[in-house]
Amino acid sequence: MNIPSTSTHEHDISLFVEEVLRDLGMEIIRSGNNVIGKLGREGPVLALCGHLDTVPPFFPPRIQGGKLYGRGAADDKGGLAAVINAVANTDQERLKGTLLTVFVVDEELRSRGAQEVLPQLRADFGIVCEPTDLKIVNGQKGRLTFRIQSVGKRAHASKPELGKNAIVEMAMLVLRLKDLSLARHTELGHETISVSTIAAGDAVNIVPDRCSIDVDYRYVPPDDASSVLATLRAKLPEARIEFADDPKNFTRPFYLPAHQIITLLGESIRRAGREPQMATMDAGTDASRFNEAGIPTVVFGPGGIAQAHTSDEWIDLHEVEVASVVFQKLIKRALMTQN
Ligand SMILES: [Zn+2]
Repeated sequence: MNIPSTSTHEHDISLFVEEVLRDLGMEIIRSGNNVIGKLGREGPVLALCGHLDTVPPFFPPRIQGGKLYGRGAADDKGGLAAVINAVANTDQERLKGTLLTVFVVDEELRSRGAQEVLPQLRADFGIVCEPTDLKIVNGQKGRLTFRIQSVGKRAHASKPELGKNAIVEMAMLVLRLKDLSLARHTELGHETISVSTIAAGDAVNIVPDRCSIDVDYRYVPPDDASSVLATLRAKLPEARIEFADDPKNFTRPFYLPAHQIITLLGESIRRAGREPQMATMDAGTDASRFNEAGIPTVVFGPGGIAQAHTSDEWIDLHEVEVASVVFQKLIKRALMTQN
């Protein structure tokens, strides 16, 4: 928490985490500033994942009333600490499989870390540790961004009737966007649109001929990038609609209805004294990319998404301890013989 680690500045934190994992007896595989720790032997492979980076700005940690305040407390250092502490409490001699800790960079920007490590990563199941208030998140929406343009005709502002005002056109488009009926998934909910930025106009005495907005779109299966684009174009034929950024830079949706990892994690939560709760998430995490890469993965971790990215980010330290106990139970159930 004392080491600043905003996205693209993960070098120092990666060296620190590597040393900690090495001291715990893990074999270390580095690629760039991504740090993978490996423990155990042939058998099932469990990947416990998290991200090393934080959003800006860095602010230093302090503990007050059982809460740890500081940048990254909930997102994602609390999860990393819970995983590392679980490794420290693992009886390595009893492992009948492999435990991987997969700590990646750049999750808050473009998930370059996950994209770099996943092609080489083999695992039977995974947990992406992100703040879920200790709920098991087994589904997420996908994300896209669009640039929508309205086209008008320039004129002198004293003769607006000779032109066609692109801002006025856009105002009507935005109202129609707001009222579009969007697809719905029974578990993940409705698709959503947020009109997030707008640009138009060169000078106050000119009727503008161009206006563009960037919108954030969260979508659900069975939609994909091209079906969402086609639907928007069909519903708003007068607008020019393009992707604002390559869909590859954003996470796709996933929904894992039932899997051994959900059962194992649920049992581990119960053994840690909590009632397991299922949930889905509107925001994206690297879990989408893990599932896409064929590693059945859910999201689970201490802290709440409501505290992430805020100016007084914090985490309840007791929740970090509970998460760590859950991970210890999970490692036992997934990778050790029960008797
Ligand atoms: Zn995060």
